[in-house]
Amino acid sequence: MTSEFDVIIVGGGAAGVGAARRLAAHGKATLLLEASSRLGGRAFTQDLGGHPLDLGCEWLHSGDRNAWVGIAEASGFPVDRSDPPWAKAHPGIAWSEDDEEVARKAFGDWEERVRAVAQGSDQASDALDPGGEWNAYVRAIAGFMSGVAPERISATDYLAYDDASTGRNWNLPLGYGTLVAASLPSSTALRLATPVERINLTTDGVAVSTRAGTVRARAAILTISTAVLAGDAIRLPPGTEPWREAAAALPLGRNEKLFLEITRKSAFEPDSHAYGNLRDARSAAYSIRPNGWPVIEAFLGGEGARILDEEGPAAGFAFVSAELTGLFGGDVASAVRPLAATSWSRMASIGGAYSCALPGQSQARARLARPFEGRLFFAGEATHPFDFTTAHGAHDSGERAADEAMAALGDRSPFGRRGPLNAA
Ligand SMILES: Cc1cc2nc3c(=O)[nH]c(=O)nc-3n(C[C@H](O)[C@H](O)[C@H](O)COP(=O)(O)OP(=O)(O)OC[C@H]3O[C@@H](n4cnc5c(N)ncnc54)[C@H](O)[C@@H]3O)c2cc1C
Repeated sequence: MTSEFDVIIVGGGAAGVGAARRLAAHGKATLLLEASSRLGGRAFTQDLGGHPLDLGCEWLHSGDRNAWVGIAEASGFPVDRSDPPWAKAHPGIAWSEDDEEVARKAFGDWEERVRAVAQGSDQASDALDPGGEWNAYVRAIAGFMSGVAPERISATDYLAYDDASTGRNWNLPLGYGTLVAASLPSSTALRLATPVERINLTTDGVAVSTRAGTVRARAAILTISTAVLAGDAIRLPPGTEPWREAAAALPLGRNEKLFLEITRKSAFEPDSHAYGNLRDARSAAYSIRPNGWPVIEAFLGGEGARILDEEGPAAGFAFVSAELTGLFGGDVASAVRPLAATSWSRMASIGGAYSCALPGQSQARARLARPFEGRLFFAGEATHPFDFTTAHGAHDSGERAADEAMAALGDRSPFGRRGPLNAA
């Protein structure tokens, strides 16, 4: 039976959109199948209280070499290159600036010791100072970055990201999710709310099955998260077990956000930042009045995100309200109200925040990124060698998988430059 498309992309997040853009630029007939009813995956901007707030990715990390910056500017999306709020501590909070500086230095010292650990056990917790005064702070920051406790972080993997990051963090005032969802080329055929259930190899390509039927193509690119790939939602061809094992070695951590609306005119400083409690590993990082909006965004990682995931949004809001009271005093409770809470870990089609290699498993990224039988190609943030965990790493992995697929298929599309659905 002949193929209906050159390539089917499974998953419409940053990687799927990146792959679609590359394939469209080469005139390939492409179908993107997305399980949920929207594009973007972990890039998701929602209008909350009249403001475009990012529930998932928000920062154009390594902005000076981030592909989304060029895409944004080519499509007229403004890019804010000013310093992120975490560069500006909110004035007058309860923590002494000295404590914050000492805590930050303790984190820097931990990162230095992580280098030595990468040559040995590879377990980032071995770089903690036994009985160290600021270990809770180190755990909180590691939780923001990796979504897990240092016991579950490969030191080698951690350093691969850290060494490649340029430290420039830019922002999209209209939302990162808005940009990703708006960036699918019009020539890509799209089916939303169409979860893929099974992929088989055929004599000349792949057969991709959904509840709505089976579609054939010459190749498929999988961009689903490692949590979905390691689970049993999609049946893959025999022989793909090593790819599932690689995904299981790159589990998604926990990172969640809570948004509070500032309801009373108050002294919150716009575009500033505060840590909830320097001595609590569950503590949140607060972005206060981002873009001047009357909003506080609480970012929870690892142990802190566990509160939200396991006990629910009410427990999460109670936790951050207590921290905000500790920071700003008792009046704060009457000045803010809950707006929204994320639940990335509970979403079946995502299953967490971003991937982190288990100790000794940093090579799993390269294993996951390998093509299978010249017809199945793997993309997604977890497959990037150093920009993993990010939306730009996801985008670039989609481009890489698209290039691999096109190389495997040869240069010519049997559909010509426009593809079967767009030929009318
Ligand atoms: C709270 C939070 C904050 C973050 N902050 C940042 C940040 O500031 N900067 C940054 O760069 N990154 C950040 N990230 C990470 C970034 O969002 C992700 O790394 C990136 O968006 C992942 O893109 P992806 O395409 O690899 O995967 P996804 O976005 O997960 O895309 C995969 C898609 O596959 C779909 N899918 C799943 N199963 C199926 C199926 N059976 N059939 C069809 N489709 C399926 C999913 O619905 C999803 O849309 C953050 C993430 C979170 C959760």
